[in-house]
Amino acid sequence: MSRIKGFHNMSIAQRRARLCLETGVSSALIEHMNSVDDELTLTADRLVENVIGTYQLPLGIATNLIVDNEPVLVPMVTEESSVVAAVCNGAKQCVESGGVKTAHEGLGMIGQIQVLELSDPQATAGDLQERLDEIKSICNACDPKLVELGGGLKAIHTRVIGTEKNQQLVVHLIVNTLDAMGANAVNTMSETLAPYIEKWSGGRVGLKILSNLADERITSATACWHADIIGGEGVVDAIVQAGEFSRLDPYRATTHNKGVMNGVTAVVQATGNDTRAVEAGAHAYAARSGQYSPLTLWEKDDAGHLRGKIELPMAVGIVGGATRAHPSAQMCLQIMNIDNAKRLASIITAVGLVQNFSALKALATEGIQRGHMALHAKNIAIAAGATGELIDSIATKMIELGTIREDIAIELLKGK
Ligand code: NAD
Repeated sequence: MSRIKGFHNMSIAQRRARLCLETGVSSALIEHMNSVDDELTLTADRLVENVIGTYQLPLGIATNLIVDNEPVLVPMVTEESSVVAAVCNGAKQCVESGGVKTAHEGLGMIGQIQVLELSDPQATAGDLQERLDEIKSICNACDPKLVELGGGLKAIHTRVIGTEKNQQLVVHLIVNTLDAMGANAVNTMSETLAPYIEKWSGGRVGLKILSNLADERITSATACWHADIIGGEGVVDAIVQAGEFSRLDPYRATTHNKGVMNGVTAVVQATGNDTRAVEAGAHAYAARSGQYSPLTLWEKDDAGHLRGKIELPMAVGIVGGATRAHPSAQMCLQIMNIDNAKRLASIITAVGLVQNFSALKALATEGIQRGHMALHAKNIAIAAGATGELIDSIATKMIELGTIREDIAIELLKGK
């Protein structure tokens, strides 16, 4: 049964014991997790509900990356083989051309207020623009700290949506949240302003919450890969063609962007940021033309070199959320020597571009399976029960056999 009365009030140890009782999972399996009273578990217990422990994922460091002329070692949290290696390789191949350059655009995060039952939504929109100073002081009073640091509400945008008979006004609060991702800051402002909008307009406010389509917080990154370093103009042409395929076909674009997000999500996760927020924003941005499209653009320049560009909504912070509460997130920010959210956004976006370069290069030349499966073989060996040195030896044998499957790994283990 799935109802456990009072589960949320139990201690972590009590929850673990009860879980064993209810599900039959052995206490030895639960014991492989950290102790019930180590610092991280106690922090976790304050971050989410009904905690029974923490869940470990590999944390790797991508080397060779240069972002805006500064070298950076990038922590990445991912369970997928080849993701960290792809960034190391792709970054190494653009060192000679200066690494990745980035830029930022937009005023900040967007908070949405939906206004219904208006007789004249356009007139209300105009009226709200005239009240901008009043709106600013109401919203900014919600977050004096943010305002003191130079952030706060910067503008309002209005949109009328719906059918002619059922028009709604959507008010966008554009808030510079500086070094914070900003969801809480923006949500508080949206909820605080809502009753004023009802009073001024005579309408009824529906939802009031941040939009994850953070297209007022865009980071772009560009880089050049010299043809002679990446294998010649044939490779450049093949990568450009692979990019073109993703522009023509949403089936391909989805996988193309999944590859971009392999890198992006791994760094977002490592820094304690909200992976779902960044992913939702990226995919919605990819579909902004009406057709789901690639997040990157690949071109051959006049000298025959490969040029890549990426553009992403990048709602990440170095304060707020779990970024400060999680000790590993703090360590990861320190590894990158980051002291502002824009630098973090630049690094994450650069990683997305470099990740995509490596994936396309592999796909357009030898295919990804050779490199990918070599690493994946170790996962398969572990799944088959190999431990210690056996993991490498079983993986190597499967690679030699040219067949990487769990049943083969089990057979090889039996032969040990
Ligand atoms: P927060 O409210 O914890 O912290 C941000 C606050 O920190 C600011 O409002 C400001 O007062 C203060 N601050 C101090 N120094 C600052 C600086 N240099 N720059 C900016 N602010 C500074 O965090 P948040 O970023 O508002 O919210 C992020 C959290 O909200 C994440 O955990 C996210 O998962 C969660 N969330 C997301 C959504 C969504 O994405 N739809 C919705 C709700 C909550």
